[in-house]
Amino acid sequence: MASISWREIEEKWRGKWEEARIFEADPDPKREKCFVTFPYPYMNGPLHMGHGFTATRVDVYARFMRMKGYNTLFPWAWHWTGEPIVGASLRLKIGDKELIRALREIDGVPEEELEKFVDPVYMAIYYTRESREVVKRMGFSVDWRREFHTTSHEQTYSRFIEWQYETLRERGYVTRGTHPVVWCPQCQSPTGDHDRLEGEGVFPEEYTLIKFIFGDGYLPAATFRPETIFGVTNMFINPDATYVEAKVNGEKWIISGEAAYKLSEQLKKVEVLREFKGEELIGKQFKEPIGGRDLPILPGWFVDPESATGVVYSVPAHAPADWVALKDLMEKPETLEKFGITAETVKGIKPISLISIEGFGDYPAIEIVEHLKVKDQFDPKLDEATSIIYRKEFHTGILKPICGKYAGKTVRDVKAQIIEDFRKTNVADSMYDLPQRVVCRCTTRCVVKILSDQWFLRYSDPDWKNLAHEAIDSANIFPESARAYFHDKIDWLRDWACARRTGLGTPLPWSPGWIVETLSDSTIYMAFYTIAKH
Ligand SMILES: [Zn+2]
Repeated sequence: MASISWREIEEKWRGKWEEARIFEADPDPKREKCFVTFPYPYMNGPLHMGHGFTATRVDVYARFMRMKGYNTLFPWAWHWTGEPIVGASLRLKIGDKELIRALREIDGVPEEELEKFVDPVYMAIYYTRESREVVKRMGFSVDWRREFHTTSHEQTYSRFIEWQYETLRERGYVTRGTHPVVWCPQCQSPTGDHDRLEGEGVFPEEYTLIKFIFGDGYLPAATFRPETIFGVTNMFINPDATYVEAKVNGEKWIISGEAAYKLSEQLKKVEVLREFKGEELIGKQFKEPIGGRDLPILPGWFVDPESATGVVYSVPAHAPADWVALKDLMEKPETLEKFGITAETVKGIKPISLISIEGFGDYPAIEIVEHLKVKDQFDPKLDEATSIIYRKEFHTGILKPICGKYAGKTVRDVKAQIIEDFRKTNVADSMYDLPQRVVCRCTTRCVVKILSDQWFLRYSDPDWKNLAHEAIDSANIFPESARAYFHDKIDWLRDWACARRTGLGTPLPWSPGWIVETLSDSTIYMAFYTIAKH
């Protein structure tokens, strides 16, 4: 049997399609129209199997609709905006071995091209050229006359984005305001999801800082549960971490070195007076600011100086992690001796019950730790125990008489009031932090910065949310179950930092030095295909 050269057949027909221009769609009032689209791929690397898989389904649908007589447009474009291409180029420039190996061995980039990747635009051009060839050889039925890439390196697209943002601004959807953003100290720029090596989908969270009194200053401890201040029994400080004594807005605060830097990015005036190891604090006493009780500071190696202030107050009746840490110390008097703390001090600490919940006695944290058989501070079951108690107490917990004027109310109902009261009386302050590690494409760990001059898209606008919900309701969505997902996303969206200081992109027309970031210039680009090349 004669062998068949599939490649020859493929090339022959691809040539014929191109000559006959059969995939070029122009307006034709006499025919029904159909538009299919595929999210434009990002050009910081070659296309992968996922692109092939998804785009094949789009192509099959386009061909099916053509056979049914529809005037079908299937266009294609390339996404260049933002930090990923610039970040990769920078990592190459500083000799990142892992990236260079990946480019050589996985992407198969020839040496002479690799050298030129120190120019991010060249890198984008290279991958666009390679990827275009791949899409063509896949035989996708694309109208190539409408191809474009994003950023100011494509003038017409850039003008389209300028028009979009001028229009949004005229209608009041772009505002300048004070907001917390995920921030890269190296790039001096907000770090959007696309700009991250790690920590996609992580938002700044606002913690309440309870200001425990320590000498002539404060030990501010971060919490999401300020009501638990009524049950505090001790504090945990990491003896090996570096802490600082700092002037924060004129007050003396003891916090981790990392926290001092973070607070200085959050519109607070911070001056570090001295640095010392946490062990200096262990065994000393602090005063809780509501009842004025004197309580001990104990060693806690689980305390992460990179998390909020690096100061943790302990509520063993209601926080499983606090109970387990305390129990560990009770069982290891030799550890305490080193810090001059007697075993009796720790054994004498009695958990204080302040919330009642159904199905549990006075000490829910102790009960759950015993029920789940949590071994120690490093047992992964500890997280589960914490989340069970936290949820139950937040949703159904009733505050006990020890909580004074808040007694008899549910935690959920009274939380906001407690925060407001504590702030008014200088018992509490607040800080933002990231609940998980976020790392920028440039490999720098991100922090939360409060920007007073940042440009935002007002996705929080209730009228916009209503319009978006209506649009979702009137759309045909397959499968139907995905509709709820769209509604959820619209509710979830908050104001979005829509501009960056660095990276490739289109400058904000009214504010030089700001570039429309990567997700914000790819919201309505499908419309651009209909006018591209005309
Ligand atoms: Zn960065």
